[in-house]
Amino acid sequence: MSRASRREYHQRLKEALDNRFLGQTLARFQGNYRGSREAGFAGMDFPALAAEVGAAKDAALGRLEELYEQFKAQAEAAGAQVHLAADAAHAREIIADIAAQTGSRRIVKSKSMTSEEIHLNRHLEAQGLQVTETDLGEWIIQLRGEGPSHMVAPAIHLSRSQVAELFTQVTGQKQDPEDIAALVEVARSRLRRAMLEADMGISGANFALASTGTIATVTNEGNARLVTTLPRVHVALVGLEKLVPDLNTALKILRLLPRSATGQLISTYVTWITGAVECAAAGGRKYLHIVFLDNGRLALSQDPVFSQALRCVRCGSCANVCPIFGKVGGHTYGHVYIGAIGLILTYFYHGREAARELVKNCLDCQACKVNCPAGIDLPGLIKKTAGLVMAEQGRPLKNQLMRRVLTNRPLFHFLLRRAYLAQKPLARGGRLIRHLPLFFAPDQEFRSLPVVAAEPLRDRWQRLAPRVSNPRLKVALFGGCLTDFVYPEQGEAMLKLLAGRDIQVDYPLGQSCCGLPAAMASEEETAREVARQNLAALEAEHYDYVLTLCASCASHLKHYPRLLADDPAWTQRAEHMAAKVIDLASFLQKEVGLEPVAGRGAKAAYHAPCHLCRGLGVHQAPRQLLQGAGYDYRPYEDEEVCCGFGGSYSLDFPELSAAILERKLKQVTATGAELLVTDCPGCVLQLEGGLDHRGSPIRVRHLAQALAEAQGK
Ligand code: SF4
Ligand code: SF4
Repeated sequence: MSRASRREYHQRLKEALDNRFLGQTLARFQGNYRGSREAGFAGMDFPALAAEVGAAKDAALGRLEELYEQFKAQAEAAGAQVHLAADAAHAREIIADIAAQTGSRRIVKSKSMTSEEIHLNRHLEAQGLQVTETDLGEWIIQLRGEGPSHMVAPAIHLSRSQVAELFTQVTGQKQDPEDIAALVEVARSRLRRAMLEADMGISGANFALASTGTIATVTNEGNARLVTTLPRVHVALVGLEKLVPDLNTALKILRLLPRSATGQLISTYVTWITGAVECAAAGGRKYLHIVFLDNGRLALSQDPVFSQALRCVRCGSCANVCPIFGKVGGHTYGHVYIGAIGLILTYFYHGREAARELVKNCLDCQACKVNCPAGIDLPGLIKKTAGLVMAEQGRPLKNQLMRRVLTNRPLFHFLLRRAYLAQKPLARGGRLIRHLPLFFAPDQEFRSLPVVAAEPLRDRWQRLAPRVSNPRLKVALFGGCLTDFVYPEQGEAMLKLLAGRDIQVDYPLGQSCCGLPAAMASEEETAREVARQNLAALEAEHYDYVLTLCASCASHLKHYPRLLADDPAWTQRAEHMAAKVIDLASFLQKEVGLEPVAGRGAKAAYHAPCHLCRGLGVHQAPRQLLQGAGYDYRPYEDEEVCCGFGGSYSLDFPELSAAILERKLKQVTATGAELLVTDCPGCVLQLEGGLDHRGSPIRVRHLAQALAEAQGK
């Protein structure tokens, strides 16, 4: 990888972060979207519906060639001509030929990401054809010579003033940015004229129904209807993955698509087109050409892992909920396709060069995954795509070192103990390192860092863990690196909470890192090896639960069965262990039942770790426990939004990690909280370091500590 391209990418990220208008617009957009989406899906079982859509898409993807043949036969019987383009160049050629054969010179287009994928406009314009985008946002960015910054709202990065300025240039008359009706009128008058004069209309399609040869467009502006009906020639450019067997399948998807895109129950216009209709201008019948684009889709549909990516229905939700998109927008967080799905498709449709920096830019916060209406495991596929990029360009040195260290637990723990000695002078006797040595880049200084503990939890265990002669429950504690070596006090607090409850808690000493950092770095074999070591060390068969204070560890331990799915000797063992993994809040509610604490305690805000709320689906338990412990719980809007840590992400993308943290801390501070509670030591590291760096008096506590303190333990 060239250092220049990495530098350039980080430079672009910084420029986007410096754009205040963009930051404010995206924050407002994401906040509004969350509310609209929630209202749109109220009363519906979203995960079940998304699974249904995923299954329906998978079934269709398994027989794309057959569906294509069926579609072609039906559509051509109805008067259309159907083409199959092997790649982008072929599709461009087919469409340019249609224009030449039909004498089309003026072309109008409705919004189509597939046409962006093949850079169609550039090609047609180079042939001397006049191409006009008719979606308002697309027209604006076409006039500016830009690509879309969002799949559904392509001009979201622009302010009204910028649009007014642009329209002033276009019309030669001063346009008032406050007069939205006048701005819309500028677009309407120009675009209507273009549509009436056009020889050819180009659209995309949201569905292609094999049973009837029908295509469908789902839009809000109505321009697609005009583009597909007014000109004498209609060309629909359709990704092969839009093929579905029939109307029922399309309707199943349509139930979720507008709700996921904008929160609407249904889009304003859903248009179904079957065959070439009558048209006086074309001498009797319209010319309808449907161009299917392969461009790697057929091969992808056969891939047991990545075929999932073709389930995408282009709703844009994975960008709308992504904290990174929310900071930098689609021009930086996408190539042509934007958001989480863009990180994956860029590699497959546009190649390694376009993807190699982009694909690393993921926090693994899981927000896209739980919101995707097609049930795509987006963060999982992003990691796997990063693995493909890495395999092609060679494993970086840090990955090779990671493998050496993480797979050798004694060496890893030896290094952690040494780290305590090395950092001592930097900590100056305190708990946090406030100034990093010079070899760290200055942009790492957005948070203080905790010191490694003088005595890890594993060394204290014999002294601390109570002996229980007749336990009603046997629990293995999985510490994870941070609880064990950095925050042993969190483990101590947990022991205080469980004291006198007839629960035996063991700390199996053979356990090591859960392996999540390796998985995040696309070091799959390392992650698997570490998983096997932990499974052997934990001996889960002897325990009722495997308890962990780290949400990220818990969620990754539960992922072991999938990680080891190809290793039959370990799969069953992994499943057995995963079923016993539990987070602290759930365990306390289910098995302990802490006594309520009377009185009004400190004002406490809560940060929900990504891997707890989305990874494990635990939402209410920690908040209920805090309130039960007498804390004056102070909610805020982004409680379940990532804190920007993401393990090594915060080292690789410090500018974004800092910006995401900043927003969170602002909201927490505005609640008036004295205490910020969370239940993942990684989040503690990020939040405490950020607050300390800002000189904030807000204390950060792990849930175990907050509850133990409330109980006077
Ligand atoms: S990946 Fe899922 S959430 Fe993202 S655009 Fe596609 S369907 Fe929507
Ligand atoms: S996991 Fe989070 S950070 Fe990564 S793409 Fe999805 S929403 Fe964005």
